[in-house]
Amino acid sequence: MATASDINMKNEKGGTFLCEMCGLTESYNYYGCKPPFHKDITFLENCYMMKDPFQSAGTKSFLLLGSECVACKRVVCQASSCSIFYTKRFCLDCARTCIEEFPPEMQKRIGK
Ligand SMILES: [Zn+2]
Ligand SMILES: [Zn+2]
Repeated sequence: MATASDINMKNEKGGTFLCEMCGLTESYNYYGCKPPFHKDITFLENCYMMKDPFQSAGTKSFLLLGSECVACKRVVCQASSCSIFYTKRFCLDCARTCIEEFPPEMQKRIGK
């Protein structure tokens, strides 16, 4: 059986995204911060993206699946129960570990 780190091979051409918090799996089309199918956008972090399956061919819509926690390097999805973005991406486990370092409004989002 493949482990999470086997599945989450960083591959610019795509692969399978697996959130290590909630177990969400999804095919992604691109990993990085400058999606080739959306030239106007540069992300602040390397993230996993998939082309929006509900868009017709030729459109440039895409979905952000998730990215890596800067602290523990686990891959986490964008769900508010899995990760939080504050200057960098943190999984909720790491966010809770260093919750005092976040401003009050972020602490509220992280929860107890
Ligand atoms: Zn998740
Ligand atoms: Zn983490």
